[in-house]
Amino acid sequence: MTRSYPIIVWFREDFRLSDNAALSAAVEKGHPVLCVFVLDAAAFPGGAARWWLDGALRALDAALRTHGGALHVLRGSAARLIPELAQCSGAAAVHWNRRYDPGGRAVDASLKGTLRQMGVAGHSFAGALLHEPWTVRTRTGTPFQMFTPFWRAACAVGGPRPPLPAPSGFSFAEWPESFGENRVVAAGFGLLPVAPDWAAGLREEWTPGETAAQDGLTRFVTEDLAAYGRARDIPAAEGTSRLSPYLRFGHITPAQVRQAVLESGQEGTKFLAEIGWREFAWSLLFEHEDLTRRNLRSAFDALPWRTDPAGLRAWQAGRTGYPLVDAGMRQLWRTGWMHNRVRMVVASFLVKHLLIDWRQGEAWFADTLVDHDPASNPMNWQWNAGTGVDAAPFFRIMNPLLQSEKFDPEGDYIRRWVPELADVPAGMIHAPWAADAGALGACGVVLGRDYPAPIVDHRQARARALAAWTALRKE
Ligand code: FAD
Repeated sequence: MTRSYPIIVWFREDFRLSDNAALSAAVEKGHPVLCVFVLDAAAFPGGAARWWLDGALRALDAALRTHGGALHVLRGSAARLIPELAQCSGAAAVHWNRRYDPGGRAVDASLKGTLRQMGVAGHSFAGALLHEPWTVRTRTGTPFQMFTPFWRAACAVGGPRPPLPAPSGFSFAEWPESFGENRVVAAGFGLLPVAPDWAAGLREEWTPGETAAQDGLTRFVTEDLAAYGRARDIPAAEGTSRLSPYLRFGHITPAQVRQAVLESGQEGTKFLAEIGWREFAWSLLFEHEDLTRRNLRSAFDALPWRTDPAGLRAWQAGRTGYPLVDAGMRQLWRTGWMHNRVRMVVASFLVKHLLIDWRQGEAWFADTLVDHDPASNPMNWQWNAGTGVDAAPFFRIMNPLLQSEKFDPEGDYIRRWVPELADVPAGMIHAPWAADAGALGACGVVLGRDYPAPIVDHRQARARALAAWTALRKE
């Protein structure tokens, strides 16, 4: 039986119908639902993520339309719009899935209070993480500072509830006339880049939406999970799941991923531990709301970072003269994604070889990654910079040449993303500066003309970074 009062389902970072507790609970209650998304300035601020958001909104709208409904997109402040919509529609309740970033939590807490005063129930549900951040704690009730004990404790808590199927038997509420149809944003959300349109590579690479997420999960579990432990560090192998943007936008939940891995009967410990790193990042952001701004190890506040706009630009553009670094930065620019091993190499290069503040790298990633995640991005930057908890020590400086030889031995990944080196053989491709100029020229490359000479010398840069670190320790 359909009850008359609508329930508003407020979508935020959960662009899916299946395993969506907020949506399922609303449909099950038998009330007509009103599905909304509020486009505010804080929703996915990075350029690449906004490109993805456009696709996510369209895909969710299309999915709801197959059930006879639609997604209503509003522009403005949720704190104002959601109560206003509740009033105009006579809603009995507003449902949403929880988010855990400090800004989002503050809005949600205050909104719940506003709704309560209006006599409207605000119900929040879990789903974005395997465990609510406050449930995985040390024996003394404090948050974990190290990943391994965190993940051990998280696994001991047990699995999350089984993923929910997509609800059936939807009934959709009419849009309330008093709210005004013209306040719903029509198709063009203003999220796509226009002048210039830099998103061609993103379009080629990705299809946002729940269907693509589920297809990707099935493909990964069937084809790549078995070899994940071996292939995950080889950027040319494409042996990882590429689920990161789908998890970020909630097209899929970690519980769904976990269940698919467990049901496959394959060894999935290593892969699930990576999902665990995502959980750890969110637990850190939950405790440290300034994770993006502040060194978790305050001793690093005194590190003399260099101001080097030219170096930063060369790094961003993939023109450092270190082929593996440049391949990674160009993959990022073209596709909005970069292989994890290469993310580590480029992060280490910026922070240690160039001695540029990790926050500048974090900001560039935030703008260019389709999977930009406000918890995983700063946590990983702080891990690589040595400024975070449970981080790689600062004095461990990755050698981009050795990383290149070890993880891209044939140079296939480099050739794919640095086409000017396409004809350079494996023996020369990792360090073109050390190659014989004649031999390099025979491959069509003159250093400094076709491909940059290194912007820093590895040994000198390493010595400079270690000197800065040693000075810091003396203070
Ligand atoms: P898989 O290897 O298939 O892993 C499965 C999932 O586990 C990923 O989709 C992701 O959700 C999670 N995961 C894997 N590795 C990590 C990790 N180190 N930290 C947290 N979660 C992890 N990941 C993001 O999702 N968003 C970011 O903004 C982000 N920024 C990063 C910045 C730096 C400097 C570094 C070194 C890593 C960053 N990562 C980030 C982590 C990691 O690189 C990506 O999650 C991974 O490359 C995504 O590819 P995948 O889905 O194929 O991963």
